[in-house]
Amino acid sequence: MNRHYDIIIVGAGPAGAWTARTAAECGAAVLLLEKDREVGVPVRCAEGVSEKGMKLIFPSIPDRWIAQIITGGRLVAPDGTAVDAYPGERGFVLHRKLFDWDLAAMAVDSGAVLLCKANVKALIKENGKIAGVQAEVLGEKRSFFAPLVIGADGTESRIGRWAGIQTAVPYEDMDTCVQATMAGLDFDCTKVEFYVGDNIAPGGYAWVFPKGPDTANVGLGIGGAYAAEKRPVEYLYDFMDRRFPGKSAVTMVAGGVATAKPLKTLVADGLMLVGDAGRQANPLTGGGIVNALIAAEHAGKLAAKAVSDGDVSVRALMPYQKAWHKGEGKINRLSFKLKEAVYRFSDDDFNRTAQMLLKIPESKRTAFQIFKTALFNEPRLLIDAAKIFIT
Ligand SMILES: Cc1cc2nc3c(=O)[nH]c(=O)nc-3n(C[C@H](O)[C@H](O)[C@H](O)COP(=O)(O)OP(=O)(O)OC[C@H]3O[C@@H](n4cnc5c(N)ncnc54)[C@H](O)[C@@H]3O)c2cc1C
Repeated sequence: MNRHYDIIIVGAGPAGAWTARTAAECGAAVLLLEKDREVGVPVRCAEGVSEKGMKLIFPSIPDRWIAQIITGGRLVAPDGTAVDAYPGERGFVLHRKLFDWDLAAMAVDSGAVLLCKANVKALIKENGKIAGVQAEVLGEKRSFFAPLVIGADGTESRIGRWAGIQTAVPYEDMDTCVQATMAGLDFDCTKVEFYVGDNIAPGGYAWVFPKGPDTANVGLGIGGAYAAEKRPVEYLYDFMDRRFPGKSAVTMVAGGVATAKPLKTLVADGLMLVGDAGRQANPLTGGGIVNALIAAEHAGKLAAKAVSDGDVSVRALMPYQKAWHKGEGKINRLSFKLKEAVYRFSDDDFNRTAQMLLKIPESKRTAFQIFKTALFNEPRLLIDAAKIFIT
């Protein structure tokens, strides 16, 4: 095992693996370090993606990644009013275990070196400059060297903080999520379901994301300001009992999703942040897979160019940060404003919105129409919603 590389990437989730793949394809010598013993587990994700988003990166999507094709959605108000909606595009619930695994395999196929059970503990600095990382590999301390380190270490990322970037998420914008994968269910597996309400998931929402004819990811996220009032897992047990009485969980996971404003700083001298480590998930939905891939592709290409030019200064890496803030980062800024408005809704507001939506023909209940109805008395936010949903 070499100790010197062009680029070290910390974390082999979608962001890290796809950055590694892209940079290696461009000719860089890449080391990808993953703290878990295996890529792709545990799956802390509801695994939902839009087909349109995935096609930006993968023109042809392998069947083995797709657990379930989704063609519709159902919104359920606190009083139980159910509104079926037409998302206007197909979605997929992925087999993330396979998806993450395949992305990592593609990175390795392109020449990246992947090391699992490699927990990065610190940045190495030489003459004040980032020069590599210290990691514990199978319990043994090891040093790896590269002029450029990329933090793709997820929501709990420490890489940015170690490099002096202010990455702390305000506690009220850190949603706590818990999810069970349930089996033996009787339901419409072509629809994703969303539930809102103070007794269901205050400051967030609950979801049912089908993984097949009788299996689904059933979970919820609670806004940071509410997590202390009742344990999120208690909300989940209540929701599971209500939606699928008598059924139990096959697996259970918990994780955090930052639903905060986008992180301004994504680069420093010798350092880049990608995916959840760069707070790139959408703050309204919590979806971060496609955003991580989009960012990874930019980051990987620019990182390879920077090391080949011998210039990994913040100036040389800045085009990545700028491109992010001009593209998906801008959508995330607008989505944050919508999140702030929607998360303030009372149960009555949600119930009223559901009743209004029922008066609109089902085929016209698009995502934009739903926000238009919900925010009818906030015209300025409607403009933001139009910028997000009408492209
Ligand atoms: C409950 C829940 C449901 C979600 N549902 C969806 C959804 O339906 N759709 C969607 O698009 N998004 C969803 N998300 C968000 C999505 O999971 C993330 O946005 C996505 O995984 C981001 O990918 P990433 O590669 O940036 O981070 P991660 O997938 O978190 O990968 C980070 C990797 O870094 C590794 N790592 C961390 N620290 C170190 C270290 N020190 N050394 C080495 N390795 C390290 C971790 O082990 C991990 O493998 C959900 C999140 C949660 C918590």
